[in-house]
Amino acid sequence: MTNAAAAGLGLLQLCAVLAASVAGRVFAGCAAAIFEAARDDLRGERPMQISDLMDEANATAREKGWWDDERNYGECIALMHSELSEALEGMRKPGPSDKIEGFTAVEEELADTMIRIADFSKQRQLRLVEAIAAKLQFNKGRPRKHGKAF
Ligand SMILES: [Mg+2]
Repeated sequence: MTNAAAAGLGLLQLCAVLAASVAGRVFAGCAAAIFEAARDDLRGERPMQISDLMDEANATAREKGWWDDERNYGECIALMHSELSEALEGMRKPGPSDKIEGFTAVEEELADTMIRIADFSKQRQLRLVEAIAAKLQFNKGRPRKHGKAF
């Protein structure tokens, strides 16, 4: 082997090592990201999706017997109202939640509102996620304050 050929081969080997190193780092980076996502998911750290909320709220409500008997729409909507009224009371008299540590009463009641809406929507097989996306898009095209005073 000539000196030039040996130098060329050495250069190729160096390139191969560098390429393997870069590819290895990319692979290791991807694997680490996948591992971290899976770990976070197992820990419940993945940001909750609306569909997750619907599934979990409905599963818990069914487990606790809230859907053992047929319920009417009016009753369910009234219970959503009641949670908003509780949130208003939490604003009128600010304070901590007495059920979930580290949260305010307003936060708890707004969460209750969303849980009731998600549960109802899942039970009635409403397309809540799709409707929210469609309405958000529609709202972008509306005039300022939707053309109203308040
Ligand atoms: Mg409540």
